[in-house]
Amino acid sequence: MTDLTASALAILDRLVGFDTVSRNSNLVLIDYVRAYLTDHDIAHVVLPSPDGTKANIFATIGPPDRPGIVLSGHTDVVPVDGQTWTHDPFTLTRVGGRVYGRGTTDMKGYVACMLAVAPLLQRAGLRAPVHLAISYDEEVGCFGVHGIVAHMQAIGLRPAAALIGEPSLLGIVNGHKGSTGLLTRVGGLSGHSSRPDRGVNAIFHAADILAWLRERGAALAGAPDSVGVFEPPCSTISAGVIQGGTARNAIPGDCRIEWDIRATRPGIVETVLADLHAFVEARVLPAMRERHAGAFVVTETVFDVGPLLPQPGCAAETLAKSLTGANSVGTVAYASEAGVFQAAGIPSVICGPGDIAQAHTPDEWIEIAQLTACLALLQRLAIN
Ligand SMILES: [Zn+2]
Repeated sequence: MTDLTASALAILDRLVGFDTVSRNSNLVLIDYVRAYLTDHDIAHVVLPSPDGTKANIFATIGPPDRPGIVLSGHTDVVPVDGQTWTHDPFTLTRVGGRVYGRGTTDMKGYVACMLAVAPLLQRAGLRAPVHLAISYDEEVGCFGVHGIVAHMQAIGLRPAAALIGEPSLLGIVNGHKGSTGLLTRVGGLSGHSSRPDRGVNAIFHAADILAWLRERGAALAGAPDSVGVFEPPCSTISAGVIQGGTARNAIPGDCRIEWDIRATRPGIVETVLADLHAFVEARVLPAMRERHAGAFVVTETVFDVGPLLPQPGCAAETLAKSLTGANSVGTVAYASEAGVFQAAGIPSVICGPGDIAQAHTPDEWIEIAQLTACLALLQRLAIN
């Protein structure tokens, strides 16, 4: 094992030890990273979340006044609740050529590689800077990274490219759909089920909205998108949770639908929401308000991660090809922070160690060889 791999594993051991499931604070992990960067004289800034319970950390190696390269990773991990682990999820455990622990693949392994390489880059006298963008709350809707993008814009940074280290087995991914989480709340009027004429049944009216969503999803499926690289090749709509009512013999006064849109390109979400609004105004609310003036239907966006649109030949793709030696690019089914960086005008691709098949699973693991290969790739930034 190389010294660099050993130091990445030592860092990963620390990172895995912090229980940064998204519902928890990540500040202890951020403190550790801050101390590490300080020890290596690497300029950095901590960017707290609005409520101060979490933070991003953003570091710059090399001359900040030139367009540089962003390496992006997130600190939060998905829960282990309900999963059967044979290893302690928050203790890095090595067995043969693998290390086990929550986040080893998604994606503390990459963050460990970024940090292990940072001192080498710091000593290399870079001509263009490398920025480390380490975020919170990626798993629950890519909330944290917006603070990093805002910070870069505020200080006038215009990076040339971003490499997002989500697990891709170090292959180059230049496209994914967007992911927009939505909540529609239907407010009616409760009462005894024997007198439906006196209430407004929120479940019945929500059913009309569900039927509309289903039809709209079918219409999207019938019109495959020109982007043409995704599977399935169209934007999709799915309802995932429906809740409402309290008892069989009571008219439900409320109902909520949690649903999502996976858009192939910008503009789809806005169009669907505008059309839904028009449908609700014309076909749902009048009937509800006939009997109860306070009836309402409200749809809110819980999170919104834009698509990563393939930009063949963009700076990020060219860079990733030169670092990895790979020629082919692909797309993935999951959304990532890459869509947020691209929407901010920064060419972006995904290229990270480990296999997405291990992400979010019990006994999550990563091949040490993947970390070693990732480190070799990132080291090439020193001579870029
Ligand atoms: Zn991830």
